[in-house]
Amino acid sequence: MGAEPKRLHIVFFPFLAHGHMIPTLDVARLFAARNVEATIITTRVNAPRFTSAVDTGNRIGNNQTVKLELLRFPTHEAGVPEGCENAEIAMRIPGMMPRFFKGTQLLREQLEQYLSRVKPNCLVADMFYPWATESANKYDIPRLVFHGTSYFSLCAQEIVRVHEPYKMVLCNNEKFTIPLIPHDIKLLRSQMCPDLISDEDNDFRKRMDLVKKSEVESYGVIVNSFYELEPDYAEVYTKELGRKAWHVGPVSLCNRSVLEKGRRGNQASIDEHECLTWLDSKKLASVVYISFGSMSSSITPQLHEIATALENSGCNFIWVVRSGESENHDESFPPGFEQRTKEKGLIIRGWAPQVLILDHEAVGAFMTHCGWNSTLEGITAGVPMITWPHAAEQFYNEKLVTEILKSGVSVGAKIWSRMPSVEDLIGREAIEIAIREVMDGEKAETMRLKAKWLKEMARKAVEEGGSSYTQLSALIEDLKNYHTQK
Ligand code: UDP
Repeated sequence: MGAEPKRLHIVFFPFLAHGHMIPTLDVARLFAARNVEATIITTRVNAPRFTSAVDTGNRIGNNQTVKLELLRFPTHEAGVPEGCENAEIAMRIPGMMPRFFKGTQLLREQLEQYLSRVKPNCLVADMFYPWATESANKYDIPRLVFHGTSYFSLCAQEIVRVHEPYKMVLCNNEKFTIPLIPHDIKLLRSQMCPDLISDEDNDFRKRMDLVKKSEVESYGVIVNSFYELEPDYAEVYTKELGRKAWHVGPVSLCNRSVLEKGRRGNQASIDEHECLTWLDSKKLASVVYISFGSMSSSITPQLHEIATALENSGCNFIWVVRSGESENHDESFPPGFEQRTKEKGLIIRGWAPQVLILDHEAVGAFMTHCGWNSTLEGITAGVPMITWPHAAEQFYNEKLVTEILKSGVSVGAKIWSRMPSVEDLIGREAIEIAIREVMDGEKAETMRLKAKWLKEMARKAVEEGGSSYTQLSALIEDLKNYHTQK
């Protein structure tokens, strides 16, 4: 008998931020479930984010074992305080992000040493490591890029970067149309990242140009999406923009048990069973779930507007408030708010078991900042959305949900900012109107039906024979044949 063929070994190198680490781990687990050896490279402080999920997976025997390889975060070289090894920590210290970012880029040498020693069959590296293509090339290893966003936003961002349609308008509160895409989508100039549309050269813009260059030069792109969700944009991305891409999502669906969903990404600030018991006590589709992801935060006056809108809407709610946003409990909410809403509302301070909550049938709407992971998790759970983008590519994701999929309504955010200021507050009336629009009435019913259909499509996509399942199989085959095809 001939020797067993060697297992494919894929190494994953996520950017050090929750929104990047969480889906990368899911992708790694998808490969591991297909008999691929999967290793995640990270740093000491970030290791627990992976080990808890990996341990849970091992405990329930889900056959998705992933190994970890730790690099030393260059704390001194980057000039960051001890332990400042991920974006969420760096964001809380004023002025720390550029140094933290520098630290992530200094990981290159250690990554290359690892690649030269281990010689894996493929490197899946985050978009924020554009140099990883060159690093992998040195050892003849194909590099795949993981952006962690939708096909729609990959297409729209690239077209806007190249064609600069925002230059057609004279001021920030004027709308421009994104050219060359199958839908008529308009954005305000104020909804664009200021650095990306600035006439002056800046580091962020240079970095994004490198990201785009590396996307073209790499072996291809892994997309956390599924064909049926955005078929037009899967086509634009691969055929018109000419990128080689494989969609394998929604990747969050690899978390099947309560334990996996409850512990995904971080230790939740609420016991998962307590959370489920609370949801079990509520009527079908009666709860609004509010979360703005791991990076965005709201100032106290904005928290007051949200609180008042929730109270006036009369809906049940689960509201995730980031620690730091509501340190002083007495001032975070209007006087007596928590007492008055204690039957209807559950406030989670810190980390929520988001996928577990969204998957519960009591949840009727998701108020989201439109980070792609959250957006896709909402879609996968079949929940209509109230969209409230803050920064990054979130304004594009909002357009996909509200104008292309038509499974959500916008709260009307107009300004690109991680922490919108007092001048940019969204008032209680606008928030309440949006909540009512997705929770009650004919329009809500239409959105709910669309959302349920998308949920079904998402599940089919990852089942054996589904579009994402098939793409993952094709990618594995391509990687197995990489050296013979060359
Ligand atoms: N998340 C979570 N609990 C929280 C906050 C976030 O589980 O309390 C997860 C969420 O499910 C998603 C990720 O963190 O998978 C956030 O990624 P996203 O792209 O939505 O936003 P970002 O945090 O990157 O802005």
